[in-house]
Amino acid sequence: MTKWVYSFGDGAAEGRADMKNLLGGKGANLAEMASLGLPVPPGLTITTEVCTYYYANGQEYPDTLESEVNQAIAKIEKSVGAKFGDKDNPLLVSVRSGARVSMPGMMDTVLNLGLNDETVEGLAKNSENPRFAWDSYRRFIQMYSDVVLGVDHYHFEELIEILKEEKGIDLDTHLEAEDWKELAQQFKAKTEEELGKPFPQDVREQLWGAIGAVFSSWQIDRAKVYRKLNNIPEDWGTAVNVQAMVFGNMGDTSATGVAFTRDPSTGDNEYYGEYLINAQGEDVVAGIRTPQNLTKAAREAAGATLPSMEESMPEVFGELADVFDKLEHHYKDMQDIEFTVQRGKLWMLQTRAGKRTAKAALKIAVEMAADGLIDEKTAVLRVEPAALDQLLHPTLDPDAPRDVLTRGLPASPGAASGEVVFDADHAEAAAKEGRSVILCRVETSPEDIHGMHAAKGILTARGGMTSHAAVVARGMGRPCVSGAGQLRIDGKAGVMSCAGREVKEGDIITIDGASGEVMIGEVKTLQPELAGDFAKLMEWADSYRKLKVRTNADTPHDTSTAREFGAEGIGLCRTEHMFFEGERIIAVREMILADDLAGRKHALAKLLPMQRGDFIEIFKIMRGLPVTIRLLDPPLHEFLPREEDEFEDVAKAIGASVDHLKRRASELHEFNPMLGHRGCRLGITYPEIYEMQARAIFEAAIVVEEETGETVVPEIMIPLVATRKELGMMRAVVEAAAEEVFAEKNHRVEYMVGTMIELPRAALQAGKIAVEADFFSFGTNDLTQTTIGISRDDAGRFLDEYVKKDIFAQDPFVSIDQEGVGELVEIGAERGRSTKPDLKLGICGEHGGDPASVEFCHRTGLDYVSCSPYRVPIARLAAAQAALKD
Ligand code: ADP
Ligand code: MG
Ligand code: MG
Repeated sequence: MTKWVYSFGDGAAEGRADMKNLLGGKGANLAEMASLGLPVPPGLTITTEVCTYYYANGQEYPDTLESEVNQAIAKIEKSVGAKFGDKDNPLLVSVRSGARVSMPGMMDTVLNLGLNDETVEGLAKNSENPRFAWDSYRRFIQMYSDVVLGVDHYHFEELIEILKEEKGIDLDTHLEAEDWKELAQQFKAKTEEELGKPFPQDVREQLWGAIGAVFSSWQIDRAKVYRKLNNIPEDWGTAVNVQAMVFGNMGDTSATGVAFTRDPSTGDNEYYGEYLINAQGEDVVAGIRTPQNLTKAAREAAGATLPSMEESMPEVFGELADVFDKLEHHYKDMQDIEFTVQRGKLWMLQTRAGKRTAKAALKIAVEMAADGLIDEKTAVLRVEPAALDQLLHPTLDPDAPRDVLTRGLPASPGAASGEVVFDADHAEAAAKEGRSVILCRVETSPEDIHGMHAAKGILTARGGMTSHAAVVARGMGRPCVSGAGQLRIDGKAGVMSCAGREVKEGDIITIDGASGEVMIGEVKTLQPELAGDFAKLMEWADSYRKLKVRTNADTPHDTSTAREFGAEGIGLCRTEHMFFEGERIIAVREMILADDLAGRKHALAKLLPMQRGDFIEIFKIMRGLPVTIRLLDPPLHEFLPREEDEFEDVAKAIGASVDHLKRRASELHEFNPMLGHRGCRLGITYPEIYEMQARAIFEAAIVVEEETGETVVPEIMIPLVATRKELGMMRAVVEAAAEEVFAEKNHRVEYMVGTMIELPRAALQAGKIAVEADFFSFGTNDLTQTTIGISRDDAGRFLDEYVKKDIFAQDPFVSIDQEGVGELVEIGAERGRSTKPDLKLGICGEHGGDPASVEFCHRTGLDYVSCSPYRVPIARLAAAQAALKD
């Protein structure tokens, strides 16, 4: 018989930390903490299998669930010495969701469950604190009505505001027992008014209502959006935790807080967190009151006046610090912790591996390895490759002038500029148009996730370092400034103001998530520093990876950036981009529009020295590292003049009439250029083009070898080959050019000739094509287009829908379609190598910088991946992780 419910508490538990799939992250870690002997309020976890069962069986529970829950509750009652629903000595519980991985803010928690008109009196008497009892009751009605019954919380907040106004009070803390009692009555009436039936007084009904709400919340829209963004499968389900309440709102010796064992923003090895005296958990994260610092040092650094927990509750703080150390040593990772202090006694409510910025992830991994807490391999596996992106992003130039509007908390590092928008839908729409926006909100909630994702940065007026905005922004790697308290944001009016200055929707601002500054206008940014922890981790990663990492770079500038990021060569240098620069385009057009071979050769002669110059520069920067140069690939029509003055320029250069050139241009028109006269088809019809390019490459190689004394081995790549014959012919053109140049210069260089595999036919015929090839480079952009038959340029209109409907798990242009396109890569690699066992294999295309695709390339036994310069570190780390996971 399946066990649906697991108990924990009193130094023991039926579950363990490694049972996250079954118990969810929260439940598994509560069990683990209980077993470790930490003070955890007793409770029970209903497994994720119940959630799966519930959705598979028309929202019905397993038969034995209720009795298992009742037995587990009886254990809690015994442990606490109180009874659920008892009017003299009531047990109160929280009902908490918890999926396998933490989904911040996605699932709603209900606190103080078990209160009704009778039990509240018992609680008041037992605690000798009626104010606390009535405050707890009104919180429960408010939360339960909102989360379970669907009565929006603003109704209740409004009632509180009205009462405070009547009494001339501005802080909740000044409301008395009688006030909360009055509010509890008003809240119940409000709920009844909204729902047409009374607020449930039966505690069992309350309990099962809350449990049902947790399971239902697995399917609400914001949870679905979060899962989609984070690739969390729908069928994982959530667990439900029912746990005895402990109270942080019992007066001035009670408190609640959240903490990290190290600074999640910088990675510094210092306790880090926030707490509130006389409050309940959700107050800290909701940003309703601004929380106080955990440590004295942090308070001083922030220039805050309210005492830190270290100062106000030194003894409990000491216990908490011991728990931090114990947990870090036990889990061997930085922990994110939730705790409550009830009348001077510490209770642990949650622990999990803490989310952190890339900078912190690096620092923590490197330091923990240095301290021997983890080994180097674990350190390499600890940093998520895609997160490195954050580190490669710009920071503000300290010397650039800045017009600071206001300051908030430095919630997630990185600097960003963009137009001010006040709502998540606008942010998303603007980003779709390619505009940069900063999402500015009073505070964010899970409904804003899509807008936060679309924005370049996030600014909030309320909320601490652990507010929703801060946590989500750090997870996404978006710069964020939170809690800019001076800022008055009026989203409806489309304006925010501070100290008499106004910023309107659409105005440009800059935020610095590292300092918390908010500036008017755009501020100059600087490129990141790649020494220190970054260099160390990369060094470790490099020692484990088997795949080489090259870059796609067309210009000397890209090439040097990529070298700094550790590229080990160029996997794809596209020669056509060079054709667009300055005056060259005129010579290129002259070549394309020439009437005959002589005319083309005339134009090519002008291009030769320019191409040679580029190659000399690139070979010099790469200093002996391999460089793969792809000969001309795109359809010629891409280079054609369009405007009248462009035709005139070319006409002047060739000495032909504009009309004549226009006629030539229209002859070159193609209906489907992506499948038209492009790639090696250009070389087949106009071999003189490839001949010129080959000549430029060899001449450049010779110049560089002679100047620097270093060996240059160019790898010449023929695009869009479908047959062995095409490659054979193009190879002959390149070889002839080589021999001519070598004879002229009396200097030979080594070189290779290979091809891109970017057509299904080429992958299938790889065995034959390999006869003519020294290397293959899988051009997965075109291979994806030609395999699936989807044009990348037109896919935007429907691909989103495909991903939403789960036809593709991900955009196949971002992460390689391993099943389909991947199979062709596997076939191409295998057949190519069966002809030539030492055939060099790589991939170029956007996929080279996508961690999952890199892992695929590792498994397929390729020699290298090639990606854009900024993705090189990501690919290096992903390659190391792939090797370590073997
Ligand atoms: P989330 O997953 O959103 O963090 P939690 O289930 O952790 O939700 O609950 C939010 C907060 O509610 C916790 O941080 C804690 O402060 C408070 N809380 C939950 N359960 C209890 C409890 N049994 N006693 C006291 N406070 C609780
Ligand atoms: Mg929590
Ligand atoms: Mg291509």
